[in-house]
Amino acid sequence: MRDRRSTAVTAMSAAVVATALVATAPGSSPATAEGPATTLPAASADIPTPEEHFGFEMGAEGKLAAYPDVLDYMRSIADSSDRVDYETVGETTEGNEYATVFISAPENLERLDEIVELNKRLSDPRSTTPDEARALARESVPIYHLEATVHSTEVGNGQAINDIVHRLATETSDFTENVLTNSVIMLVPSQNPDGQVKVVDHFDRTAGTDLARVYPDLYQKYTGHDDNRDWTMFTQVEARYRLGLTNEYRPVMTHIMHQQGSTGERIFVPPYGGVTSPNVPANSNASASAVGQHAMRGLTAEGKTGVGTDDYHIYWTLEQPVGFFPFTGTGVYLTEIASVVDLAYPQRSGDGSPLGPQTPTQDLIQPYDKDTWTLRDIVEYAETATYAGMEYVADNGTELLYDNLYAAPHEFTENGVASGVEAYVVDAEQRDPYATYEMLERLEWTGVEIDRATAPFTAGGEQYPAGSWVVATHQPRGNWVDQLLGTDEYPTDDLPYAEATTSLPLQLGVDVAAVDEPVAAELERVEQVEVPDVEMPAAPGSSGAYLVRPESYGTIPMVAALQKANIATFRAGAEFTADGTAYPAGTYVVPATPQARRVLATSSADVGVPVAATPEAPEVDGIQLKPRTRVGLLRGANNMPGGWDMYVMDQYKVNYEVVGAQDFTSGRLGDVYDTIVLPQGISKEDIVEGLDPAKYDEEFAWAYGVGADGWRKLRQFVRQGGTLLAIGDSVETAQDLLKLPIEPALPEDDEEFATGGSLLNHQFDTSDMVAWGMPEEWPVWLYDTQAWTPTGPDADVVSSYPDDDVLASGYLRGEEHVAGTANVVSFDVGKGKVVTYGSEVTFRSLPRSSFNLLYNAVYGGPAAEVSSTQLAGLQPQFTADGRLRQR
Ligand SMILES: [Zn+2]
Repeated sequence: MRDRRSTAVTAMSAAVVATALVATAPGSSPATAEGPATTLPAASADIPTPEEHFGFEMGAEGKLAAYPDVLDYMRSIADSSDRVDYETVGETTEGNEYATVFISAPENLERLDEIVELNKRLSDPRSTTPDEARALARESVPIYHLEATVHSTEVGNGQAINDIVHRLATETSDFTENVLTNSVIMLVPSQNPDGQVKVVDHFDRTAGTDLARVYPDLYQKYTGHDDNRDWTMFTQVEARYRLGLTNEYRPVMTHIMHQQGSTGERIFVPPYGGVTSPNVPANSNASASAVGQHAMRGLTAEGKTGVGTDDYHIYWTLEQPVGFFPFTGTGVYLTEIASVVDLAYPQRSGDGSPLGPQTPTQDLIQPYDKDTWTLRDIVEYAETATYAGMEYVADNGTELLYDNLYAAPHEFTENGVASGVEAYVVDAEQRDPYATYEMLERLEWTGVEIDRATAPFTAGGEQYPAGSWVVATHQPRGNWVDQLLGTDEYPTDDLPYAEATTSLPLQLGVDVAAVDEPVAAELERVEQVEVPDVEMPAAPGSSGAYLVRPESYGTIPMVAALQKANIATFRAGAEFTADGTAYPAGTYVVPATPQARRVLATSSADVGVPVAATPEAPEVDGIQLKPRTRVGLLRGANNMPGGWDMYVMDQYKVNYEVVGAQDFTSGRLGDVYDTIVLPQGISKEDIVEGLDPAKYDEEFAWAYGVGADGWRKLRQFVRQGGTLLAIGDSVETAQDLLKLPIEPALPEDDEEFATGGSLLNHQFDTSDMVAWGMPEEWPVWLYDTQAWTPTGPDADVVSSYPDDDVLASGYLRGEEHVAGTANVVSFDVGKGKVVTYGSEVTFRSLPRSSFNLLYNAVYGGPAAEVSSTQLAGLQPQFTADGRLRQR
């Protein structure tokens, strides 16, 4: 029996020798030494070229293939070629088709189910010995996952795949023979079909006009360019499709095709730079570097210059560029190709000098040597890089199957994780059952095994009740468990490309304990994670009320449901006791009508947040939520944080509208909205200037500027009684608008203060309406936005950073600047209310433990105060149509 590892070494040495003798480009290289196992049947002659199908060469100036045409082309090739299978995976967020195309030798496609099964068996090192795994690896075929265009304005790769599929479907050469016989290509023509449709439609629609050619708004309905930053919670259906493909097919290599800006190297290939998480399997990491170097060699051999690596992209955080996937063992092969002008027109230096950086280094051996860069160049670079990746996988398939699918998880099932944590224990008694459910569900989606205790037990010196969960790290996805549930110490002062931590428990608000020794408990495997069962209490009498505690962010959809059904809803303004149970300030008090019962029964079952009942409503001061509170989201064009906020509001069925320029033109804003939310990143300029009508037509009229008059109207909105909530950088906008008595606390210089995206400890004034239901202390997410210092008595500090020990997870430079400063601050302005959130409390929908800070104020701002006698008598201050009752 041959030893895989020494074979790998031999193959690599052979490659080095071949390079030294004659540089061969991918696609022109001779067949591998072992020779192809089979001979491909001749390809069908009636497959049109992309040029014949689309009417232009891929990469032709000013021409882009439309997504439906691409799918038509793929389907028609699948119809006439036994090398190509087409599969519909499902519908996207906006109803387009998400598809995969499998390309391989016919005998591989026929046994694809068997290959999937082999890969699955390979991936569990506990039931397979190394020798068995080697045999399985020889029997299986490696899968190369090729994903074109997750970022919809990076259009070149989506053109290249048409050439690539045509070539693989029609050519008879040593190269295609090798690739098709020794690998299965799993192509996703677009990871974000909605965006591809929007961007290409817009581009075509604006041809020959003075209008801007690049689509100006979010090209994924909610996430826009953040659509590749969703690899923790998998909030979007497209992200879940990618997750499903990875879980099912277990590719050894995932090639993610991107474009970068137009000024850098012409193409980036791995290796990645900077720090590396020890939880990324070493084999996955090394194979990404190897494939990148194979591509660099291939591109260079073809005379393609400007091929670079950099230390910008790193294997540290979970959101991007790579996310969850390398943790499964797959090598993540990221290519980033320089972009052109207006998607499809040449970029020229203008003075004859070559484009891009010009100093040769080991990161850029041969700088780009021309003064022009075209869409066709992008297509050709993408094709060469892809063929090189495919060739690498076909040449090294058996080794990659063993190393990436088997040996990578074996590292963790055998030795555990680098942190030394043996298990994470999730107490059954949590303040937020919905958060706990959401966290466990994500673990389940990502293939993590979860156990549940059938009896009380002790672990790490703590006692846990029956029903508590235990997630061990000695399992195939133990590395992912450790990365997701642990806290991080980002190890260098070079700030990360994306974030310095993820730490799902801290983000969601779940108590999770890391235990350094094996947990001895009676456990059973969780078959399916479910929302906790809740039962409605018996209906109290007519003077009674239903009570819902305020801690869970699951209360947000519950309140939205009460609002939608127009059910009177009160909140206690202070602690009280009912039937011997203490309830905190902010507890929801709902008059016990049959209709309220129906709505609460459904909405509490959806989120697993229990409802209690009391025969007598509590006698405590409080507020009544305004019936059908009208919420406005002033999201701005292409503002991703606003998109994420829209996603959350849609998920929770909040009654909101996107604030558009048209809202400023007639009457008062207060006639339309009770509360307006300014998401992170909305500047005065975004509001006043907005999109230019000369460049963007009617379709984007909602995002036009509202001018100085509109700006004044926004100010009047607050002064006349509206609620304005500003997040992150938008606090500056609110301050500019209303001269709020706060000043920035953090220095602008990164050298003095930076977090790189981290979780910082935090203290809440839970007696303040804005922080009702929050714990006294829990971390918040801070990333490049401000902390604040009050400058007058009218600033009500709701939350602040502690005086020391500020960092909870991630990285912190310049603790002294943030220590003791304010984060969430509330103000009475005229008849209205303003709350400023210095930290991004809704960042990519991740820090859900902070959501209530926003939604308390969304509804609490427009609410009416009620006295203890009114609350005890459940006498509404608001009439059903939302007007304040006259006293
Ligand atoms: Zn990109």
